[in-house]
Amino acid sequence: MKRILLCDSDLLTKLSDEVPSNKMRQSLVQGLIKGYKLDELCEIIDVEPIEYKRLTLYHDMDFIKQLILDRKEIDQQSENHEVISNKISEVFDLIEDLVDDEVDAKDDELYGLSHDCYPFPFMKYYINLTAASTIQLSERMCEYIKSQHQQQFQSKIIGLNFYGGRHHGSKSKASGFCYINDINLGISTIRKNLPNSNIFYLDLDLHYGNGVAEAFKFSQKVTTCSVHRFDVGFFPNAGSFEESRTGAYNISTKRGLNDESLKWILEEVVLNLIKKHKPNFLIIQVGCDGLATDVHKQWNLTIKGFNKVIQNLINDIDRSIPIMILGGGGYNNAETAKCWTHLTNFLLDSNFPKDINDFQNEIPEHSLLDYYENDGYKFWTETNSNPSKMHNENTIESLQEIKEYLLSL
Ligand SMILES: [Zn+2]
Repeated sequence: MKRILLCDSDLLTKLSDEVPSNKMRQSLVQGLIKGYKLDELCEIIDVEPIEYKRLTLYHDMDFIKQLILDRKEIDQQSENHEVISNKISEVFDLIEDLVDDEVDAKDDELYGLSHDCYPFPFMKYYINLTAASTIQLSERMCEYIKSQHQQQFQSKIIGLNFYGGRHHGSKSKASGFCYINDINLGISTIRKNLPNSNIFYLDLDLHYGNGVAEAFKFSQKVTTCSVHRFDVGFFPNAGSFEESRTGAYNISTKRGLNDESLKWILEEVVLNLIKKHKPNFLIIQVGCDGLATDVHKQWNLTIKGFNKVIQNLINDIDRSIPIMILGGGGYNNAETAKCWTHLTNFLLDSNFPKDINDFQNEIPEHSLLDYYENDGYKFWTETNSNPSKMHNENTIESLQEIKEYLLSL
């Protein structure tokens, strides 16, 4: 028996669409999941706003105050200004603002609110609900785990939140399109609710999950493991495997990583690290900017290959371990929507017997169908079914070297 939770909020979808790095992406993601009617098979968490002071569970108060500064002129720039404003006044009715006259937009740069993280319309509400989504999913999963212990009855629980996974944000600085670190807030929420939790965080985004690795590098109860592209000058310019320490592992890869190499890494390295740390809670960040179709063009993964690796990992670990899956990077909107919809589909399948190819190829009729016009309204296309011709610079020797180093720590 399995229970799947899914975060879904019309308001958060609209607010996430405003994020400059991911314009319109969230509508496509939530829209495609609903187009395939997968939401009907999940237990929906309709995200509710939280008091802003709860964000200090991880972040500094000064940073939060800067993030939530009223910026009405910027809000006006939204094409959806009226719709969003009306919804906000309904939903945020009871949330107290943290007004501080000392806070000034001229200090934005100090908090990373410039360059790749400049203020955008309705940012303060986006921050609130994004943090709330992972916090509320964590709380719901913890409640369920506690009730299961009481009943001596174990069944699988998987939580999905494609609004989350903002892994670059630090305590007092926005970075790399991440304004808030919902992951660290989620992990801290789990630690608070389940003091005996032993959490393993796996990051599969193309970029190093530095915000999470940094936050828990001294923690005995939170292990982080990031598989990413690493090179001098490649954002965030850190995360070589030699910088790893026990409990904070970096699997630094080169250009062209393909499905086979990722499979090898998961089976040979990650699974062994999971066995070593024996977690009782697994969090996977599934940023899909490593797909061959992504604008980055650094890795060469296919949707089927990427999701198969996640499926195998979930099948290989102890079935009683709760799993939280969070979004992350992904800059080809239609392919990101397809990737996470496909992932949701096979997670819903009771015992995963269904072949991963067995998926309705016609994009179902829904309000955003036109976005798939270039794909002939098909889910699978020539480009997303096959890797590109990019050379895989990751040799078995280079991967073996990382494996030996990490398993010796
Ligand atoms: Zn990324």
